[in-house]
Amino acid sequence: TNPIHIIGGGMAGCEAAWQAAELGVPVVLHEMRPMVETFAHQTQGLAELVCSNSFRSDDDESNAVGLLHWEMRQAGGLIISTGDRNSLPAGGALAVDRDAFSDEITAKIEAHPLIEIARGEVAGLPPEEWGISIIATGPLTSPAMAEALRAATGEESLAFFDAIAPIVHADSIDLSKAWFQSRYDKGETEEERTAYLNCPMDRDQYEAFIDALLTSDKTEFKEWEKDTPYFDACLPIEVMAERGRETLRWGPMKPVGLTNPHQPDIKAHAIVQLRRENALGTLYNIVGFQTKMKYGAQADVFKSIPGLENAEFARLGGIHRNTFLNSPRLLDTQMRLKSRPDLRFAGQVTGVEGYVESAAMGLLAGRLAAYEKLGVAVEMPPQTTAIGALLGHITGGAEAETFQPMNVNFGLFPPLEAPKKGRRGKKDRKIAYTDRAKLDWAAWLAALPSQ
Ligand code: FAD
Repeated sequence: TNPIHIIGGGMAGCEAAWQAAELGVPVVLHEMRPMVETFAHQTQGLAELVCSNSFRSDDDESNAVGLLHWEMRQAGGLIISTGDRNSLPAGGALAVDRDAFSDEITAKIEAHPLIEIARGEVAGLPPEEWGISIIATGPLTSPAMAEALRAATGEESLAFFDAIAPIVHADSIDLSKAWFQSRYDKGETEEERTAYLNCPMDRDQYEAFIDALLTSDKTEFKEWEKDTPYFDACLPIEVMAERGRETLRWGPMKPVGLTNPHQPDIKAHAIVQLRRENALGTLYNIVGFQTKMKYGAQADVFKSIPGLENAEFARLGGIHRNTFLNSPRLLDTQMRLKSRPDLRFAGQVTGVEGYVESAAMGLLAGRLAAYEKLGVAVEMPPQTTAIGALLGHITGGAEAETFQPMNVNFGLFPPLEAPKKGRRGKKDRKIAYTDRAKLDWAAWLAALPSQ
């Protein structure tokens, strides 16, 4: 059989190569380092962790990333099993010895009889003669590959920075203060006319909010991040506030075209809007609130917004150098480029965020590519599983217009059926999500053809 070509020997590419090879399909894994370097990688090892050495929580009973660890273990994941073998004490988290981890991955990939490592940059899209290929070039995709992707997918389809506004779990928003309404009731359908959640502020609340933004702890840009082109399109909210105390009231917080049903006679001084983040309606992002504030400061400042006092954040805001596709628009349900289905994508370039999520998408892409090569049809994993939830989000669940990278979280899962009696507490809800996911993941794995 002709090999599958995988571009990028990072978290996603190594996992994809391993999965495909373990299914008996030969792989050529292309890695540009050490010939071409990135800003962040320091070694020539495969699966180098560029920053923290943590795979985050290992709690697989009530935490979404812990559940992702579990699913990857069940599927024979290379990244997770090597992480386990090289773990360091870290409380409930899975932290790894980064050098030992990368050395072991490199040795295993080198020793696999079906994997060939090709060192060197793939400076454009893989040619069609290569057949099935996976692009897993990561957040620091080489400029030549990024240019080729842009040319193939269009100007608006590949981002070089993320500008992430905080995302809130819908069920933690206080609807006795917030209300559903699109500005000027715009929209053809009732759903569109109620696409936003609005949180009103009076003058004192607004002034206190501006003070909190101005005095909050900020993260500094790294040297190589300084020339950020985001400054035109999406200023961090605290930078907008620095430009003038009224800037936000004339920008994302303008109090026009909206009527508070809880207090119809009082005109709000400013209004914070949250927009639906996913088709499930379980997540909302705070419109225009991309930020470089430190995480602790963000939680404090944003919880001062009326209606968000008890907000639970699926993720906090951030702005980073990050190359990623507009996957909901470009990819089919199997992570293939619609316009060139021989090309599949995996890892951070698909718009998932984090080491573990990137490896998880590699695991799935590697298997899907191998099954395709072997000519066997398989179902996609159900959205009730952590891997299925990530896949569902990037290939259709997320709003394409405002697509930004996403960590795994329970807001990406279809809501649970109500229990027969009463309501579940928060902890029980998380356990119910993982119980359901584990059953469904095990069933999905069991139904796969044995190689
Ligand atoms: P990578 O692991 O980066 O792998 C991509 C590989 O492709 C690289 O080895 C690269 O050299 C190679 N490559 C690129 N272009 C080409 C080409 N044209 N031809 C051949 N090879 C190519 N996530 C966390 O969970 N925790 C963190 O602390 C964290 N910190 C981060 C810090 C920085 C500075 C960045 C940029 C990202 C960080 N991330 C972090 C996010 C992300 O999860 C990781 O970057 C993760 O490694 C992504 O996995 P990946 O496989 O998609 O990409």
